[in-house]
Amino acid sequence: MGMLAQAGAQLTPVADDADVIVVNTCSFISTAQQESVDTILEMARHKTEGKAQRLVVAGCMVERFRDEIRKNIPEVDAVVGTGELDKILAAAGIASEPVAPSPFNILTSRPEGDHRRAQGRFARDSWDGAVADLPNYLYDETTPRVLATPGYTAYIKIAEGCDHPCSFCIIPQLRGQFRSRRFESVIAEAERLARSGVREITLIGQDTTCYGEDLGLKDGLPLLLEKLSAVEGLRWIRFLYAYPNKITGRLLETITRHEKVCSYIDVPLQHASAGVLKRMKRGGGADLFLRSIEKMRRAIPGLTMRTSFIVGFPGESEKEFEELCDFVEEAQFDWMGAFSYSDQEGAGAFDLGKKLPVREIERRRKHLMSIQKKISRAKKKALIGREFDLLLTGSSEETDLLLEGRTAMHAPEIDGKVFVNEYPEGNEPQEGEFYRCRVTEAHDYDLVASLV
Ligand code: SF4
Repeated sequence: MGMLAQAGAQLTPVADDADVIVVNTCSFISTAQQESVDTILEMARHKTEGKAQRLVVAGCMVERFRDEIRKNIPEVDAVVGTGELDKILAAAGIASEPVAPSPFNILTSRPEGDHRRAQGRFARDSWDGAVADLPNYLYDETTPRVLATPGYTAYIKIAEGCDHPCSFCIIPQLRGQFRSRRFESVIAEAERLARSGVREITLIGQDTTCYGEDLGLKDGLPLLLEKLSAVEGLRWIRFLYAYPNKITGRLLETITRHEKVCSYIDVPLQHASAGVLKRMKRGGGADLFLRSIEKMRRAIPGLTMRTSFIVGFPGESEKEFEELCDFVEEAQFDWMGAFSYSDQEGAGAFDLGKKLPVREIERRRKHLMSIQKKISRAKKKALIGREFDLLLTGSSEETDLLLEGRTAMHAPEIDGKVFVNEYPEGNEPQEGEFYRCRVTEAHDYDLVASLV
């Protein structure tokens, strides 16, 4: 969007108004692929029946089905993979050739990633139509950028790609080997964002806890968090998607020591049964995880923890699923997501036998969520009467009568909400500002609060 805007394109979120439509796709799991295809087809209608003249498909689905998309959906004029962002202007018909020769490609790697590459972890041989080289794109602080989020909050991608061997996952083939943005580049971007009014920063990457390893940095993420804490104007900083065995004492200490770093850890554990985790090629198990959760809670007072699990992994027995349920009861996460296993060609698990029926997978997912719902309800109830800082995010999407906001316990877009139903008379709260709130009611996942 930044490159298009810089080249003079006027951006609109309304497909009806657009001359050029760009569909940015996901290809991680079947439901995301389906949603991407449905959206492409829906947008193709704007070309045949509306005013759109060009249709561009971008993102991970292009890495996976490059030729197929063009062959099967003739309305598509151009495709842009995740490593080819400099081609967007030509794809949109604004420039005839790529404008920038990808100055932002960084060729760093970690020994772990090189080893996995030699083992074929990043191979796309079994995929028809995935013809492009493995992406090695990384944006930097000079890349033009348009925030798709409200002006007070922004994501910063600090690393791209993944070297882990998780057998259910094709992200390494889609996104390439792990590579980090330069330390100074991330800081420069954060400073620029803060100057433009951003108050909350969320660091992302497929694995943020590996940040800097390919640059020879030890404790890269803690160092980055420390430095970001000193950026004037920022109020909340958090990172998402920690890898379980990469959460170090130094990282925990950094979260505790710096007020601006939210006491929040999102660590997708994927399962808790040692047998399933071994087949997932992730390692660990319930006892080990419980010990590290205890350590994290001891180190960080008031820690909020999020995790996610995959249910119905090939061969997941009833007993293994029960182990997961017991673990969830015991671990008492603040936020938890459960995803149904999605069979992906090219992932190691694709060739494992004993696939579970879809209905059984869905039953397990619902059951796990019902356990978490009770935990969440109790945890949210325990917050009644307590006070927190709240970032006001505007009117409620559900009713104009309520305002909405988030506390440091809520990562943007993914966690529950705080509905605000009361504020001191004559002090109309403003979107993007921070207030002190008191929790007055609790639901399964959401809270109700008044500003004090
Ligand atoms: S760590 Fe995450 S992105 Fe990397 S292979 Fe595992 S699930 Fe995929």
